[in-house]
Amino acid sequence: MKIVNRKSPKVGFVSLGCPKALVDSERILTRLRAEGYEVAASYGSADLVVVNTCGFIDAAVDESLDAIGEALAENGRVIVTGCLGAQPQRILDRHPQVLKITGPQRYEEVVASVHEYLPPKHEPFLDLVPAEGVRLTPRHYAYLKISEGCNHRCSFCIIPSLRGDLVSRPVGEVLREAENLARAGVKEILVISQDTSAYGVDLKYAAEPWRGRERQARFYDLTAALGELGLWIRLHYVYPYPHVDKVVDLMAEGGVLPYLDIPFQHASARILRLMKRPAAATNTLERIAAWRRVVPDLTIRSTFIVGFPGETEQDFEELLDWLRVAQLDRVGCFEYSPVEGAAANDLRLEPVPPEIKAERRARFMELSAEISAARLARKVGREMQVLVDRVDGAVAVARSSADAPEIDGTVRISGAGNLAVGSLAQVRITASGAYDLEAELVQLP
Ligand code: SF4
Repeated sequence: MKIVNRKSPKVGFVSLGCPKALVDSERILTRLRAEGYEVAASYGSADLVVVNTCGFIDAAVDESLDAIGEALAENGRVIVTGCLGAQPQRILDRHPQVLKITGPQRYEEVVASVHEYLPPKHEPFLDLVPAEGVRLTPRHYAYLKISEGCNHRCSFCIIPSLRGDLVSRPVGEVLREAENLARAGVKEILVISQDTSAYGVDLKYAAEPWRGRERQARFYDLTAALGELGLWIRLHYVYPYPHVDKVVDLMAEGGVLPYLDIPFQHASARILRLMKRPAAATNTLERIAAWRRVVPDLTIRSTFIVGFPGETEQDFEELLDWLRVAQLDRVGCFEYSPVEGAAANDLRLEPVPPEIKAERRARFMELSAEISAARLARKVGREMQVLVDRVDGAVAVARSSADAPEIDGTVRISGAGNLAVGSLAQVRITASGAYDLEAELVQLP
């Protein structure tokens, strides 16, 4: 074992995958920081490196294996965790020299492995950690993970077998974390989980007190309570169940951003059934129309899979027709790839040839870009509030309520180099593109 003489042991951290994995990384780092470890900014300055991997699709597996290889080449002492850690042989086949492999959400095991290979140094001053924990996102926004796992069994997905059934965090704990984030200066909270609308089902909606009142562990109640913090609250991974209507009412009242991230994945009833998607029988077009009657400015983001086994040209045309009516604002599209262990592999359906998958994805993205451009063009001339993410010279790059960080568009404000990162600004939209907006400053907040 390597002897470490430095004042504080330093851990390098590579976090891959979805926002949920990012939250896992933050939890591990929070623990390690609390124990006096430092976070190294480079491989060279780290005593060992933790790689938090993703195993959702084959491309993510490759990226994870490459990242492990890079960490081994640059540092040599590597602990692997995260979704791909649930398939240790796949990692060991390529990288037999990794020190330890743990699966997703094995916070204790990761921390124990770090202790084993890099013992903590007892430093009372270093053992302090800010109440809001250690975040990997910029200071002004943060992800709030409200549950782990999922009760659904979508046929293309192995997350339930990796992460287990839904386990919601108690409502008081979630709200206290949100409050700590607000106190630490966070302006925007992004609520994440595998199925946000199912929050609390496993807890039988157990109530806990917060700010002098009982709050139920229920999607609506949690969202309403978060709305009391006066921050931007953005909801991800919501399914179109009827009880979402009440949350849309909260958006109309202004407590929550008028933004819903709903992974529809497809629109053909036949494909949705084969995918075993939650709320597959819902008439989603009616639901979307009803929500937009209540909140005309509602932004809907979604992801789709094209080329699912057995998808015919007719199924795909149905999806395009659906999108033309649904007019979704933000859309991502993946070509189906079979994930090892997914139930869809046993359906014995005709695989869609790679060139057809690619062609369908291109047609889908072309249509969604047209829709996005038309919807953004309607915003030209309007005033809105934006949150500044970064400043490049004289241009402040910000986001509106319609833009989640990393995945959606931006609002570029020229002549606004003096704005502070993390500040809110009032702007007027001057031009629009396929995904982004240009703006000028109306007044400083
Ligand atoms: S809802 Fe479906 S796709 Fe999402 S995590 Fe659960 S099983 Fe996977």
